[in-house]
Amino acid sequence: MSVKTKTGLYVEIISKQKGVTGSCTLVNVRFNDGENVKFLVDCGSIQGEGDIKENFIKNSSLEYDPKELLATIITHAHIDHCGRLPLLKGECPVITSKGTLLLMKNALDDNMGIMREQAEQFKLKQPYTSVDLTKTLSKVKTLEFGESIKIHDRIKVTLFANPHIFGATMVLIQIKDRSGFYREINLLFSGDYKVENRFLQLQSLPDWVKKLNLTIFLEGTYGKSNKNDITYGKFRRNLKEFIKKQDSNNWVIVIPAFSLGRTPDVLYELKLMQDQGEIPSNCNIICDGNLSHSHMNTMLHNPDTFGIKNEMLDFKPKGLILADKSLRMALTSTSGKFSNEPVIIVTSSGMGTHGPAQMYLPYFCQRENCLIHFTGYTVEESLGRRLQDTAQGSSVQISGAYKCLNATVKSTNEFSSHATGEEIIEFLKDFENLECILINHGEPEIKKVFSQRVSNELDKKVKDIEIVDGKTKFRISTYGLTGKTKLQM
Ligand SMILES: [Zn+2]
Repeated sequence: MSVKTKTGLYVEIISKQKGVTGSCTLVNVRFNDGENVKFLVDCGSIQGEGDIKENFIKNSSLEYDPKELLATIITHAHIDHCGRLPLLKGECPVITSKGTLLLMKNALDDNMGIMREQAEQFKLKQPYTSVDLTKTLSKVKTLEFGESIKIHDRIKVTLFANPHIFGATMVLIQIKDRSGFYREINLLFSGDYKVENRFLQLQSLPDWVKKLNLTIFLEGTYGKSNKNDITYGKFRRNLKEFIKKQDSNNWVIVIPAFSLGRTPDVLYELKLMQDQGEIPSNCNIICDGNLSHSHMNTMLHNPDTFGIKNEMLDFKPKGLILADKSLRMALTSTSGKFSNEPVIIVTSSGMGTHGPAQMYLPYFCQRENCLIHFTGYTVEESLGRRLQDTAQGSSVQISGAYKCLNATVKSTNEFSSHATGEEIIEFLKDFENLECILINHGEPEIKKVFSQRVSNELDKKVKDIEIVDGKTKFRISTYGLTGKTKLQM
């Protein structure tokens, strides 16, 4: 692996991620004495974007040999950041926060079930077993927020709290040359970033990090948006308006929500509505999704690990029903269950592509006295996006069959677990020595607009602002970006 000629200290950053999901970045470190080591930041699956079978195939393999990796560092427990970890089969150490490990256990277990179903559906081999998953999890080393670990005598990794979701981190990597001749290379991976989270009390990024000469690998999911674009209160207003209009008792509200973060947020909002008498007292509030149930359980049992505020521990609405399969079947048939009482169903997944939402949405979208309320980002081509793009009264294709969309479909961005473009630019303003910004994690068009915004709106000069397009290898030296090459695909 070692190179013969001394070429100075530099790293190559390779990310084949084109869109929003499937985060997995290889950092290839080339030391000036010829030593060459590699590690990964995130090891995620593609979710919802494009063809399901093609995604299954992509999610079944890893481009890198785990035996050649020093470590894999995981920013947070969303499957698009950690879903392919079991493919490491325990052959590489994994580093993450304590909270992320707890949630990752639930998420990877759930994802293994999805992969198993898809393997059967496509008559393909299940890419890993529960033994591989156990082996991988046994290799996880957890850090507290602010704690560091050396993955090599010259590479230090520090995790910092990130309000994106419970347990999420930002990752700082500091790479030194042994002779002390070259300046340190500092890489900060923002992960998916959010400024604050109403459930969590977390330490902000310390000032010493903001003073470093730094290359930042930055998310740009909502790069176009501003704080004013967030429609606070819209969810509650939409629900109130819908409930007011109903002249019979058997209305239904279906709320697709991501299991992690979003579900507790939506439940808390429903609790507030209950407290204010905005939801009738005979309304059944149901939460469906095994992963949502296990994540809530994990949260409530480990409040200190996650930094959950005391007052937010009581976030569930009164009388909350955790649905199982039989209740789900009864709700999506003419069995008469709750046929004369209103029902609110909070269900995973948020984009409607996985979990029980796949049963609720095709069934209830045909009902006139139903409101389907999306609560977060839906990728292009996902069922959630298709429903939002279909006019009421028109037909929509779901799993090969055409259904008439009679339900009202609404969405809100107020529960977003991502910062707006404006907030990310504000976040960047705090850094004193930004040398290079690599914009990752976003639809291609949005990343383009965001990169232009960063360049126009940032009050200081950053030498290089580049878009990670999944096709380019970036070379970062001790003074920032020094090269770009096309990846061999
Ligand atoms: Zn995320």
